[in-house]
Amino acid sequence: MAIPFNKPHLTGKEVHYMYQAVFNGKLSGNGEYTKRCQAFFEQRYGFRKCLLTTSGTDALEMCAMLCDLKQGDEVIVPSYTFVSTALAFLREGAKVVFADSMKRNPNLDAETLESLITPRTKVIVPVHYAGVACDMDAIMTVAQKHNLLVVEDAAQAIDSYYKGKPLGSIGHLSAFSFHETKNITAGGEGGLLVVNDERFVRRGEILWEKGTNRAEFFRGEVNKYGWVDMGSSFLPAEINAAFLWAQLENLDEIQSKRKALWNCYYENLSPLFESPLAPSGERERGIGAPDIPDYASNNAHMFYLTFPSLDKRTALIKHLKENDVMAVFHYLSLHSSAYYADKHDGRELPNCDRYADTLVRLPMYYDLSLEEVEHICTLIKEHISPCL
Ligand SMILES: *Cc1c(COP(=O)(O)O)cnc(C)c1O
Repeated sequence: MAIPFNKPHLTGKEVHYMYQAVFNGKLSGNGEYTKRCQAFFEQRYGFRKCLLTTSGTDALEMCAMLCDLKQGDEVIVPSYTFVSTALAFLREGAKVVFADSMKRNPNLDAETLESLITPRTKVIVPVHYAGVACDMDAIMTVAQKHNLLVVEDAAQAIDSYYKGKPLGSIGHLSAFSFHETKNITAGGEGGLLVVNDERFVRRGEILWEKGTNRAEFFRGEVNKYGWVDMGSSFLPAEINAAFLWAQLENLDEIQSKRKALWNCYYENLSPLFESPLAPSGERERGIGAPDIPDYASNNAHMFYLTFPSLDKRTALIKHLKENDVMAVFHYLSLHSSAYYADKHDGRELPNCDRYADTLVRLPMYYDLSLEEVEHICTLIKEHISPCL
């Protein structure tokens, strides 16, 4: 039995709701299913204003537009993240200043954050890697002290918390993704912009409606609508929102199954773990466990391990592949990417590079069974034990 890395989960109602959306005769965006999904997020997580988008990338681009950056303004982004986190701000003319990861996990290192701030810094973009919260109190304190905006890249972080607060509710603005590799999907591609700061609500709606005040017109607040600002086409079609609605109705069930799978991995593999805080010299023989700090919850977006070296990671991925199990690695450090290396200021980001070389993601999706997780763990233990 081949085990893929990811498989999109269908709750059963997706096609039914998509059919309903077609039957309703309103196919374009901002219809009944879009409003239902947005209200769900606002009520469940206390987000001030939610706007569905066609992708997480789009939601990040809207965040960057709302920050109203001037050429040369600086935005602090972790180097260990997906391209879109940086690109959204770069395309607004900002200079991206890459931050290193923490030693204990791939999230932005709040302790060295302040050393990156200059008079041109405008925004900090924490990415909640694997759905595990960044140290938001520390980040918000630095942001307040220097009067900066905080945009949470919560693409992986649906239904996850920092000291009991939902991720995505803490920064001024936040972006979620409903791509098919995330915990819930809007039918392959989708996203959500969250506006927590009242100052950005009106402009958020205008950017979303292609630079027009159409939303105000439909609420009867103005008697005609027209072109009032920048904008683009960020709304998903109703059939995508209908798909997402079916997933939202089953969110608790999806989350509890994913957590059971995650815990099964953790318990089975825990004999192999060494502390990620151990100096790397002392970790030559061991494997780093996924790290969940006391302030963070686990939304079971991802199960990852870190290896003592690139070679050892490559060998494990090969061993799993020979046994029909697809494990994958990511990200390549953005600061040394083909597109950005010559724009980077030359600082070394050693923790980021270490994750780029040594982190591996194991299969994680709703339809995976506990037996399959046990099988994968057995393959890993067979491979590791003789190497120790
Ligand atoms: C998935 C992801 C994105 C992009 O989301 P899309 O919906 O694929 O555009 C951005 N940032 C992070 C951290 C992600 O994991």
